[in-house]
Amino acid sequence: MDYTIATLGTHSALQILRGAKDEGFKTIAVCKRDHAFVYRHFGVADTIIEINSYDEFHTVEDDLIRNNAILVPHASLIAYVPPKTIESLRVPYYGNRRILFWESDRDRQRIWLEKAGLNIPKIFKDPSEIDRLVIVKFHGPKGGQGYFLARSEQEFMRKIGVSKDYVIQEYIIGIPVYIHYFYSVIRGELELMGFDRRYESNVDGIGRIPAEVQQGIDVTYTIVGNFPLFLRESLLPEVFKIGERIVEASREICSPGIYGPFCLETIVTPDLKFYAFEISARIVAGTNVFMETSPYALLKHGKPMSTGRRIALEIREAIEQGRLEEILG
Ligand code: ATP
Repeated sequence: MDYTIATLGTHSALQILRGAKDEGFKTIAVCKRDHAFVYRHFGVADTIIEINSYDEFHTVEDDLIRNNAILVPHASLIAYVPPKTIESLRVPYYGNRRILFWESDRDRQRIWLEKAGLNIPKIFKDPSEIDRLVIVKFHGPKGGQGYFLARSEQEFMRKIGVSKDYVIQEYIIGIPVYIHYFYSVIRGELELMGFDRRYESNVDGIGRIPAEVQQGIDVTYTIVGNFPLFLRESLLPEVFKIGERIVEASREICSPGIYGPFCLETIVTPDLKFYAFEISARIVAGTNVFMETSPYALLKHGKPMSTGRRIALEIREAIEQGRLEEILG
């Protein structure tokens, strides 16, 4: 195969590039100069292209095209490379680029999740409406940094500071479950890749100190890492149904809809309801916990299969069947 799989050297690049190699592709990592050694160290990239800052990403495009590259996006590529650059990329891009328009804005995400008929936390338009525990989030993918909880308008006012760009969301008491899906265009099927939960500072450390010390400490949700998770098998039918509905709704809002990897971020309550609070329309870093495989992907494919490798498998099958156009967006 004379195609190359390329991605930006951060986030889930190790997984994407290793998976591409497992499927027989050559690989390129586009890295910030001070990150390049990591990709050299792990030997996942046949070629490393160094840039000084993510703003320079567009300067490597001709190089990528010359190498017959297919660009695999991940959250950091979307976050760090300016939207204008992504929109106008000439290098083939894996996935539906237009779905990013729906993913990048909480209000549009909400329309999508509502269309899919999912349970979603209530939004409070004005702090004066706060009548229960809420989580206050800031815009942009900040990885949970600076988020805070409040029970009343007064508490909100005390904690909000000068920021005006926030959303006030009902806090669902339950446990976080991040569901990793993969929709295959080539096989016409939704696959379950796995589940993770996040390890966040300082909220996951609060339980390590006595209750009297906890009082007065504000919790924050800065993501530091992820844990693998296995769900009760009796919940899997619901998990599949939810995923199918998201795919169907995405076709209505943004044809041909979502395909490839995506993740639904949920809270599961004690009555076993899934509340979706966010959707990520591409590979999430939580899949890194299954860099070799998840049990579900192993069952499905009969061999180790990470989400990164699953992307490469999809691209390989598309090339072999002359259907590459169908998975580039
Ligand atoms: P992104 O995935 O775009 O980076 P983020 O990490 O900045 O988003 P979220 O994923 O929205 O932020 O939330 C951070 C944390 O807050 C997660 O641990 C999540 O479990 C928790 N959380 C978010 N929304 C709610 C909610 N409505 N109820 C309970 N917990 C929530």
